[in-house]
Amino acid sequence: MLRKPPDARLSKYALALPRQKLRILVGLLTNRANLNRHLYIVKVSDDELCPFCQEEEESSLHFLAKCVATMNIRRDNLVNICWSIMNLV
Ligand SMILES: [Zn+2]
Repeated sequence: MLRKPPDARLSKYALALPRQKLRILVGLLTNRANLNRHLYIVKVSDDELCPFCQEEEESSLHFLAKCVATMNIRRDNLVNICWSIMNLV
């Protein structure tokens, strides 16, 4: 299977981020952010579970899309993003 080439716009956006934000983005994309799953693997935390819901390991995917405890926060942010986009059009 062929991989898609990197999107030059996204690469340019990411490389323009301040170092701290770029570190967070890379951590989330590689599942090595300072979330409990990774901290447990590197033996910094004794618990790999999500501190909000205590139902699943706190991975990047869980943090960004699956946690039921932070669902309302994600929904509100998505609504705000949609409103911002609609106001630009
Ligand atoms: Zn959770």
